[in-house]
Parts: sequence; structure tokens; C-alpha cells
Amino acid sequence: MTAAGAPSTAPARKDDSQLRQKRMMAEHYGRLARSPRTGEKNVYTFVPGNLTELVRSFGLLPVLPEINALQSAMRGKSREYIATAEKLGHSEDVCTYVKCDVGMLKSGNVGPTGEPLPKPDVLLLSYTGCFTFMKWFEILRQEYDCPVAMLHVPYQGDGEITDAMRRYVVGQLRDVVIPALEKLSGKRYDEDRLRGMLALSAQAEEDLVWVLRSAAHRPSPIDAYFGGVYYIGPMFTAFRGTPEAVDYYRALRREVQERIDQGRGPVTPDGEMSDERFRVVVEGPPNWTHFREFWKMFADEGAVVVASTYTKVGGVFDFGFRHDPSRPLETLAEYCMGCYTNLHLPGRVEMLCRYLEDYSADGLLVNSIKSCNSFSAGQLRILREVERRTGRPAGFIESDLVDPRYFSAANIKNRLESYFQMLAHRRGAA
Ligand code: SF4
Repeated sequence: MTAAGAPSTAPARKDDSQLRQKRMMAEHYGRLARSPRTGEKNVYTFVPGNLTELVRSFGLLPVLPEINALQSAMRGKSREYIATAEKLGHSEDVCTYVKCDVGMLKSGNVGPTGEPLPKPDVLLLSYTGCFTFMKWFEILRQEYDCPVAMLHVPYQGDGEITDAMRRYVVGQLRDVVIPALEKLSGKRYDEDRLRGMLALSAQAEEDLVWVLRSAAHRPSPIDAYFGGVYYIGPMFTAFRGTPEAVDYYRALRREVQERIDQGRGPVTPDGEMSDERFRVVVEGPPNWTHFREFWKMFADEGAVVVASTYTKVGGVFDFGFRHDPSRPLETLAEYCMGCYTNLHLPGRVEMLCRYLEDYSADGLLVNSIKSCNSFSAGQLRILREVERRTGRPAGFIESDLVDPRYFSAANIKNRLESYFQMLAHRRGAA
């Protein structure tokens, strides 16, 4: 909706990096679609704790079912896919990413570029915290009758990665995951090749962190949530460890540096934000079915998201972690265990408090996702604790990832407007 309340029909504005990112993803999907003809093999796997460098070091192509689901939602297909899955007996309470994926595969498994995606050659279940991941791949295994390789990633219950945890994951990489990838690809594990890819990852991670940290400027040159999901795309999906990712993040950094030099705010769907009124931190994933409308609710109020936890779901890099080519399997283990949803609740509170401080944010907003227990469990406790520690106000909204039935625009807009009014009053009072 526009500020005047009418639906916006103008094409959304995009900056160069968004367009470039879109092209990279489209090329990857095109390559996957051609793979039954070219003979390239694939590995279905999930975003948190993904082993992209290892997978690609065998010349295999990653397929991320969550990304397919969110892309389906952005193309307006998720409603029908979810309905298909529910007709097959998947209950209303099941994660909507799963139902969207099941509906998509029952409808021809057509991916975002309009071409069918290949069947999985192996399901690589890197199990980071969410039980749904396991159930999801059980469903796919029944459908496709393909092999599964499971990597069990221990939860950071005490907020640290111990040597025993690291050894446990490295052991599984050596004994389970690598043999499965060798068998599928017909290639031997090449540690030097992996090291080279990890070095490329570290370069790209350095630039991504620089971009995310740029939000500490006033005005912030980026939106670290709505814009942030574009920035993390190549890093969290199929491109970590590739020269394309290094080039993308170098170009993105240049683009953001230019915006800082010119004192410009972020590009929003309706153009550049010229008046930054509020700076907020957001916890929780975005809604994908009404992504643009949701973003506009913030932009219309002059609210910029200066940091978000969702952009850490495929790796927390901003507190110093980089892939380390000198310890290839250990660094992969640490990466898997360090993803946001694998952190215990005190760790998440700590992170949010740091963000509020480091990015001089006015407050915290929680977007609680009906589908996703990995994120939603404990969010109210987190909210209260962050408020108590920082003294900055927190707001709470509810939506869903890809089920349009759970996006109530009027409700969300109401709550956001009240929240921003409250921030304005507090500022006035101060
Ligand atoms: S419940 Fe959340 S973390 Fe688990 S698969 Fe669904 S969206 Fe992903």
C-alpha cells in the first residue's frame, strides 16, 4: 500500500547489486534445470549449516529447498502449493516451507525460472537445531527414494563450541559426508581444492561483514533486513567458495561505499529513503508472500532496519568467524555450529543487545513466524530480556513465511504505526 493507502503498482526499485544477485540465482537455477542433460549431479541441503564449499569441491550443485519455497511465495505460487500439501494430509501446523515444497514437487517441481528442478541425487541433512529438517527430508526420501547423508550438528546448549563437539562433527564429515559425496561424484576428496574454496569464502565474508556494518552510519546506506536478504543470497545459498561470490561482494561493497560517500539512504521498493526517522533491529524471518508491502510499511514511516538476526541464519560472520582454509574440516564444523538458530537463547539476547548498542538503534521489533519454532520459541522471553537490559522499547508482530493466510496487512500496519509513534513520543519526551 502507498502512504495514501492505495496499492502500489509501480515496479519496485532495485539497486545494481540486487539485479546482479538475481542474475546469479537465475543462472544457478538454469544450470540445475539443464543438469539431467549435462549430467551434473546435485545435493539437496538446507541453509543453516550448509556445506556449500565441500559440496562444490566435488563439482556437485547445491539445491536449497527453503530458497525454492520462498521464491515460490514471492512469485505468488505458495498459496496453491500449500493447499495441495494440505489436501494430501499435511496439517495446518506443519512448517509452511515444507508444505510449499511438497506442493511444488507434486505440481511438477517447477523452480523459480519456470523450468523443472532435478530430482535429488542425495539428501544432505545438516541437522542444525530444527527437527522439521529431519521430517522434511524423510518426506523427500519417500518421494524420490534417494540416499540420505546425515550430519548431526550439536546445539550450543551452553553457549560455546567445545573440542568434543568439534571432533564429533569433524568425525561425521570424514566418515559419513565425504564418503557419500565421493560415491555420488565419483571423485576423491581433494583437501587442497577445498582449502582454495574456503579462502574465497573468507574473502567474500569479509566484504559482506563490511556491508552489514555500514548500517552503523547515519543515515544508514542499507536496510539490513529487507535489503539484507538480497545481500546474503549468494553467501547462504550456492555461491560460497566461488569467484562469483568474491566479485559480487566486492561490487556490493563498492556500491555501498558510494552511498556512504554521498550521504544516501537505502533503496526501498519505492525509491531511495531520504529521511531516516527510526533505526530498528529486527528479530525473526521476513514474510515472503507480501515482502514488498511489508517493507513499505517500514519505509513509509522512515524506519530503517540497521541489523537483523535473520541475516545470520546461514552464518554469523559479524562477530569474527571466517572460514579458515588452514583447518578445513574444523572450520566447517565451527561454521555449522555457529549458525544463529543453533545458538542458545542467552546468546541470542546477547547478540540483539549488542546490535541495539552498536547500531544506535531506537528499539527492537520481533516478527514472530507462525510456522517456525526454531525462531519463535522463546521470542517473548528474548524480547523482555532485551528491553530490560537495554531500556529500549520492543514491539511484536506476527506473520508467516510463505502462507498468505497469515499475513494480516491491516493488523501489522496498525501495530507498526503504534510502535513507531511510541518511539517518536519517547524521543520527544527525552
Ligand atoms: S521450522 Fe523454521 S527452521 Fe525449521 S524448516 Fe521450517 S522455517 Fe526452517
